[in-house]
Amino acid sequence: SIASANYEEELEFFSIKVPDGPLTSILQKVKVGDDILVSRKPTGTLVLDDLNPGKNLYLLSSGTGLAPFLSTIRDPETYERFEKVIVVHGTRFISELAYQDLILNELPNHEFFEELGIKDKLIYYPTVTREEFHTQGRVTTAIESGQLFEKIGLPRFNPETDRAMLCGSPAFLDDVVTLLDQHGLKESPKMGVLGDYVIERAFVEK
Ligand SMILES: Cc1cc2nc3c(=O)[nH]c(=O)nc-3n(C[C@H](O)[C@H](O)[C@H](O)COP(=O)(O)OP(=O)(O)OC[C@H]3O[C@@H](n4cnc5c(N)ncnc54)[C@H](O)[C@@H]3O)c2cc1C
Repeated sequence: SIASANYEEELEFFSIKVPDGPLTSILQKVKVGDDILVSRKPTGTLVLDDLNPGKNLYLLSSGTGLAPFLSTIRDPETYERFEKVIVVHGTRFISELAYQDLILNELPNHEFFEELGIKDKLIYYPTVTREEFHTQGRVTTAIESGQLFEKIGLPRFNPETDRAMLCGSPAFLDDVVTLLDQHGLKESPKMGVLGDYVIERAFVEK
């Protein structure tokens, strides 16, 4: 997924390296000065336009599933449409909590985003499963137990106010979808049709 903002001159990617993967085994060896051909048409389901209007936008990810949301949180439109933007990122180890500096320091202190009120709007909830960390456990457990909502100071998912984008491993997606459905949120059935949440289904298991 493109991780850079939609207005950037440079394209940025954040990906796992699949052993012998047809794309990533080549991509990781790209050197400065190499030519790369990129097709013109981007595609994908994680777009703001497919979400019903709402107050809070949850960006729920596991592992490198964070990638597309790095683009979303650098899009001014995100902050024009939503009052709160909550990045929830679950990984196994602390070292996998990539882009913390962007989320915690760079964006909040960026002149342009500051004007959009990002310091009040952007909320970060990282969680780690296999190491000691101030928030531990799976994203799904944090949702079920209510710990996520307690920590960020918002009520539980509510179809009136809350929208979500999901990106991560298939198991993560299945579990989070079940929870969102239980809370009464409805998935966007296909591209171009509004829903309360959208999913990127194609991530490989690591
Ligand atoms: C829409 C979408 C977004 C994703 N975003 C991410 C992400 O941001 N980060 C992440 O870690 N995972 C992402 N994934 C998961 C992704 O499947 C794997 O991370 C990664 O593609 C696996 O790499 P691979 O080397 O096995 O390549 P494959 O899965 O085999 O190929 C990936 C894509 O690259 C194409 N491709 C293969 N070889 C070449 C080549 N030589 N030149 C050009 N194109 C080639 C394939 O046709 C395919 O479309 C995404 C998946 C999808 C469908």
